[in-house]
Amino acid sequence: MKLGKIAVVAVVAAAGLVVPGSAPAFAHGTEPPRDPTAVGYGGAVSTVDPTATAVGLDVLRRGGNAVDAAVAAAATLGVTEPFSAGIGGGGFFVYYDAKTRRVHTIDGREAAPRAMGENAFLKPDGTPMAFQEARVSGISAGVPGSLLTWKEALRKWGSRSLPAALAPAADVAQRGFTVDSTFRQQIADNAAQFAQFSSTRELYLPGGQPPVVGSRFRNPDLADTYREISRHGTDVFYEGRIARDIVSTVQHPPVAADPAVPWQFEIRPGGMTLADLDRYEVRFPAPTKSDYRGYTVYGMSTPSSGGIAVGEALNILEQFDLSGMSAVEALNLYLEASALSFADRNRYVGDDTSQRLLDELLRDRFAAERACLIDPAKALTKPVAPGNPDGRYGDCATSASVADGNPGQSTTNLTVADKWGNIVEYTLTIEQTGGNAMVVPGRGFLLNNEMTDFNFVQTPGAPPDPNLPAPGKRPRSSMSPTIVFDDGKPFLALGTPGGATIITTVLQMLVNRIDLGMTLPEAMAAPRASQRNSAAPQAEAAFISAYGAELASLGQPAFVSTPELGAATAIEFTRHGMIATAEPVRRGGGAAGVVRPDKSH
Ligand code: GLU
Repeated sequence: MKLGKIAVVAVVAAAGLVVPGSAPAFAHGTEPPRDPTAVGYGGAVSTVDPTATAVGLDVLRRGGNAVDAAVAAAATLGVTEPFSAGIGGGGFFVYYDAKTRRVHTIDGREAAPRAMGENAFLKPDGTPMAFQEARVSGISAGVPGSLLTWKEALRKWGSRSLPAALAPAADVAQRGFTVDSTFRQQIADNAAQFAQFSSTRELYLPGGQPPVVGSRFRNPDLADTYREISRHGTDVFYEGRIARDIVSTVQHPPVAADPAVPWQFEIRPGGMTLADLDRYEVRFPAPTKSDYRGYTVYGMSTPSSGGIAVGEALNILEQFDLSGMSAVEALNLYLEASALSFADRNRYVGDDTSQRLLDELLRDRFAAERACLIDPAKALTKPVAPGNPDGRYGDCATSASVADGNPGQSTTNLTVADKWGNIVEYTLTIEQTGGNAMVVPGRGFLLNNEMTDFNFVQTPGAPPDPNLPAPGKRPRSSMSPTIVFDDGKPFLALGTPGGATIITTVLQMLVNRIDLGMTLPEAMAAPRASQRNSAAPQAEAAFISAYGAELASLGQPAFVSTPELGAATAIEFTRHGMIATAEPVRRGGGAAGVVRPDKSH
């Protein structure tokens, strides 16, 4: 949800009339600003949603740091963007600490319950479930990681408590916000799924219909859930009453007795237990690191494939002088590098991939071996085969090929920087828009369906799939929160939703900004294409009309038109301050803001 859902948060904050711990009090009926670009100083926030951005900015204005603001904004997105993110899901948090000049990450990815085996998504006859059959089930829900991510981020680097960070979001949930067309549409798109569950129907299909655009939407159960967590700590979620409610929802899905809309699949329970929740821990993996034309690019390591795939593609592109080429020539190579790195990501990257193999995938010599396959005048036939990251490089070797993944379309992203120079790049999700479609009864939040990010079945005759389900394992993600440095100084932080297209969108924005000479707002707005090692790559209509014919003449396969790719947020750091950007149009447009606007802009 991006546009105009809000009536609660406003201008009084700037006048200092805010009650500590509450949402910045916007006059009812007014919306917080939703500018896609803001230039200035003193800190910046960019999210897909004006209320979340306003909450984050308010935290910064009142002396909070980037981590405080990011957690408060994320908790607010759990209210206003409940179909993309929330405490029922997980995500990846990348943090730059200005004092130590180090980049840290938190892996808050959902974990498979202990009961989940390799055949979790196979039907009794041994065939894989249909995607919606797997999604709308208790099996698809992984142990959520977002709440522990917030707690640990605040504990390690924040200056505010978790209750302080949750308070504005609880306020928004209690007082309500104005429904916009995106919010309504996301419910309408899930009407059949949501109608199956009494709890979800009650919250999101009042009277059997999605709430009307312009009406006020309240979620008092979620407000109470946030407040209960504030009073009792995260144990209530991972061990106590909320844990019991989550497990009960997974094991006994709250199926409506009389769903108004038929559902063609059996709704299966899952095996998550209290012990699974109790055992859950966030991890703190080292970030991925790659050099690109003098910049240093930090990203998210496994279980996300984002940092590896973006890094490998950049390493491949670095073998070519993109800035000396036309836009079409450069984009052609962007597509080729994306396909090659996706082939390797699909073949090699999963939760258990060894660090040694990950290191090989990011070696320049491996990239050179991959790049030598590229003929700028004649595109490779897709899908391309994966390479051999075996430490012996020098030829153009390949092996067998692997299919493309589920593109997905949910998730949300936020970028925050503070006046001390700390930066948070955070992508969070419940997987599909609407997660597994089950609101935990009485708790006001949806459960994720992240387990469907596992591959359902080992392809016969193919090498071992690194992304099959297993007890405690985390499914491979594409989320790519990225922070780029120029000569040790922060240059750019960016990320986006979009399932597997996340990787290509982040990559394309970096190429746009670094190689094609675009400003950050231009790099954000430019039309996008996504080549994930497929004979049918996707692109937005504007990309196809601008470049499709010329790319076809270079041998690129025809693009499948898709309405939009991604909903990015980013901040660029300049000698004069910060440029915060969100989408001007995609997903209804996002909201960027700075603490002290530069009046000359
Ligand atoms: N579940 C996806 C992932 O982790 C993200 C879903 C989306 O962005 O739509 O890669």
